[in-house]
Amino acid sequence: MSYTHPPSPLVTVPVTGSSHLFPVHRIYCVGRNYVEHAKEMGFTGREPPFFFLKPADALVVVAQGDTGKIAYPSQTRSLHHEIELVVAIGKGGKNISAAHAHEHIYGYAVGLDMTRRDLQNEMKKQGRPWCIGKAFDQSAPIGPITPKAQAGEVEQADIYLQVDGQDRQRSNVNKLIWNIAETIEHLSAAWELQAGDLIFTGTPEGVAAVVAGDVMQGAITGLGTLSVQVI
Ligand code: MN
Repeated sequence: MSYTHPPSPLVTVPVTGSSHLFPVHRIYCVGRNYVEHAKEMGFTGREPPFFFLKPADALVVVAQGDTGKIAYPSQTRSLHHEIELVVAIGKGGKNISAAHAHEHIYGYAVGLDMTRRDLQNEMKKQGRPWCIGKAFDQSAPIGPITPKAQAGEVEQADIYLQVDGQDRQRSNVNKLIWNIAETIEHLSAAWELQAGDLIFTGTPEGVAAVVAGDVMQGAITGLGTLSVQVI
C-alpha cells in the first residue's frame, strides 16, 4: 500500500515536565462562556453552551519561555485575541456526566482562540457558518500541556492576557458560565470524545484587536505563560 501524497504530520503538544507528546485528535471550542464576555458580544444570561471546531493543524505550539509567531491572516482588518483555558482529554467517552468528567481529563494548557472578528460578525449577520472567522490557519496558539495532577486548582485559577505589557483580559476560571465538568457533559452528549481532543473553554471579557508587531502574553495560574507575536 502506498499513499497518493505524503500524509500530513501528526499534530502534537509537548507535556510539561516529561518527554511525552500529546497527539491531538480534534479541537472543540465553547462560545461565550464568561458572563462579561457574553455581555460585550451583546448577549446576557445563561444560554445553553454551544460549540465550534478548529482543525488540529490550526495549532501553533509554543514552548515554555519561547515567543511563538503567527502571520497576520488574510481577509481581515480585525484580528482579535481570546485567551482561554484548554482542557486536554485523555480518555474518550460519550454521555459523560459532570460527576465523572474529571476522569476523562489528561491535563490543561493555555491557548489563544484567534478570531477574524469582522468575518465572524459578517457570517453571524448572514446566518452562515463561523469557519472563516474562527477556523483559519494558525488560529490556535497553545502552550505545553500540564498534567492535571501538577496543575493545581485550575477551577480557581487567574487568567489574563497582556499585549505589549498592557492588560487586555483579566479574570478567573471560576467565572466560567459552564464549568469544565459541565462543558464535558454537554460536549460528550453531542460528539463522542476521544483521547487527544482539546477543548478551548471560552474567553473572558476584554477581547480586542492586535496588529502586526504586537506581542501577546497570556497566562493561567499553574499552567505557565503563552507568548505569541503577530508578524
Ligand atoms: Mn473563544
